[in-house]
Amino acid sequence: MPELPEVETVCRGLAKVLLGERIEEVKQHRPDLRAPLPRNLPSRLKGKQVVSIHRRAKYILIELDNGEVLLVHLGMSGRFVISHHDRKPAEKHDHLVFYFTHDIVVRFNDPRRFGLCDLIAKKDLEKHKLMRHLGIEPLGKKLTRAFLQEKLKGKKSSLKAALMDQRLIAGLGNIYVCEALFYAGISPRRRAGNCKAAELAKLVLAIRKVLSAAIKAGGSSLRDYVQANGELGYFQNHFAVYGREGKFCPACICKANGSKGLRRIIQQGRSSFYCPTKQV
Ligand SMILES: [Zn+2]
Repeated sequence: MPELPEVETVCRGLAKVLLGERIEEVKQHRPDLRAPLPRNLPSRLKGKQVVSIHRRAKYILIELDNGEVLLVHLGMSGRFVISHHDRKPAEKHDHLVFYFTHDIVVRFNDPRRFGLCDLIAKKDLEKHKLMRHLGIEPLGKKLTRAFLQEKLKGKKSSLKAALMDQRLIAGLGNIYVCEALFYAGISPRRRAGNCKAAELAKLVLAIRKVLSAAIKAGGSSLRDYVQANGELGYFQNHFAVYGREGKFCPACICKANGSKGLRRIIQQGRSSFYCPTKQV
């Protein structure tokens, strides 16, 4: 499933190619993804120019020159594929194909169809049912030690669960919560309300560090977007703890002290990976 850095990379990749371009035609190959597609989507998009593309949580917001925003979520398996001078027929799972000026073709392909797409007025964006309960951006200025201290005060849930709560911080998913907790040296099992101010300060820095590094890695994969198959946003990433059960973590004494290495536990139905030596 694409996480925040992948979505950010997709946004940047789309922006690089589509800013200022106009939609000449849209071909829609089915009526729905996770939810029904907006009524008359192709005719409503035809002739509109792309004025900005940005991300909110894991949503891609494509702003058009008529004051509307095309909102896209990639779900589990959604992806955009960009090509040029491409008139080949839609491939399997190409549910939407956008034809832009300058012969740019963008396909939205989603085999599992957990993705979604809506078209709304920009002025109503914040009130939209998918947007209005979203918490702060993990890379924005609002994420501070003081914010976490205030929001986590008295919370009995695990710190992992609190950080995964999209109403608190939006777009922070399982992988990057595990990684951030590792760099902060805090166990995912810690009770959310029991963190010291110094630990929360470390956690804020760790969240920024893991997300920024992943976005940077995605950015470097972007340079070749045309030579590669045109697919945006999925790149090789190197994790310190995620998916590394039983291995030893980098720059740690856990190998020397006879421990069994990184541990995997299940919290709220999701795997958490951590080093019991480093993370307490
Ligand atoms: Zn370790």
